[in-house]
Amino acid sequence: MPKPVTTLIHHPYQPPAGFAAAQPGVFKASTVIFANVAAMRARDWKEKAGYTYGLHGTPTTFTLEARIATLEGGKHCILVPSGLAAIANVNMALLSAGDEVLLPDNVYGPSKALAEAELKNWGITHQLYDPMDPADLERRISERTKLVWLETPGSVTMEFGPLAQFAATCRRRGVACALDNTWGAGLAFNGFDSGADIVVQALTKYPSGGADILMGSIVTRDDALHLKLKFTHMRMGWGVGANDAEVLLRALPSLALRYREQDRSARQLARWLQGRPEVVQVLHPALEGSPGHAHWKALCAENGLAAGLFSIVFDERHTGAQVDAFCDRLALFKLGYSWGGPVSLVVPYDIPSMRSAQLGTWKHKGTLVRFSIGLEATEDLQADLEQALQALRPADNGSQSSRP
Ligand SMILES: *Cc1c(COP(=O)(O)O)cnc(C)c1O
Repeated sequence: MPKPVTTLIHHPYQPPAGFAAAQPGVFKASTVIFANVAAMRARDWKEKAGYTYGLHGTPTTFTLEARIATLEGGKHCILVPSGLAAIANVNMALLSAGDEVLLPDNVYGPSKALAEAELKNWGITHQLYDPMDPADLERRISERTKLVWLETPGSVTMEFGPLAQFAATCRRRGVACALDNTWGAGLAFNGFDSGADIVVQALTKYPSGGADILMGSIVTRDDALHLKLKFTHMRMGWGVGANDAEVLLRALPSLALRYREQDRSARQLARWLQGRPEVVQVLHPALEGSPGHAHWKALCAENGLAAGLFSIVFDERHTGAQVDAFCDRLALFKLGYSWGGPVSLVVPYDIPSMRSAQLGTWKHKGTLVRFSIGLEATEDLQADLEQALQALRPADNGSQSSRP
């Protein structure tokens, strides 16, 4: 008889087979156990037909991968520990020393930082292109260009570019293009039908919906391209935790519901802010007059959807300090990065410091503030914005300085 410490590990009890529940189970593993040496040698994970090691997949991560691939309209999905890791994985798989990668000028900031530091150190150069001008992208493509990143709209300045034209330019010039589809979340439009070869998403945002999970996805339709990305993923050792995967599996069924409601609420608030004298421009691609609105209409008309994300540019008569005070005075909106969660968020940005002066694609003088709309009642959010706008009143107006 083995000792109890051994029996605690190799216990004879097995739960009855056939347990079924609405939600998939959480399987946690580094080690995967094989029945015999032959099974160990024969087992392969590449087609999701078997299990070899936790990093190569478990029932939980395979299930989530299959569902995210469906969400994006793709065939294969690779999970990574964050949205930024998805971007890094694509760069590492497709680029080597001497190559060049092109990024839109309004690209997700940390993606640009990665190009400016690690990619540069590895002998990979980058250029920024005008996010609204396919001719500018075309001019910058050379035989060294091995990857073009697409992202629309920009997640801070919200211009909506001609995505299909950008992708068609890449196709014509024989350059792979990868789309950061975090804004569209697989719901507003289909990234592959728009011409992207690879679609990444920060699952951290809408699919998680809770502001509590970090994860990224890399989706492809092409088998060979998927394997290329998958081998880089395997060699880098980027795994995701089973509990995090399970939280995402639980959140996915309500994704479309949350996205639609956050869109509705954001559009209502954005329209209201359009009528405020403090604001010179509301940047929301679904609103008439916002940069790239026609492109949004062309790409998203079928579903009529937009993310619950928009920015406003304050009239330049309001100082940066006054705009900071406006953000500080908000009570329901919290100061914080990211989006797609239940809590509404606000961030003031210094856009000129984030953009290429050479391209000159940012023309506004006033301060930009970005809002991510959560799931609070829209009228409460509007009342919060209204009371915080008081912070913009000149300080010498005594009757208005009613801050408790
Ligand atoms: C948040 C975000 C990312 C990165 O996601 P993380 O999980 O935070 O690393 C990438 N792209 C866009 C557009 C994002 O908003």
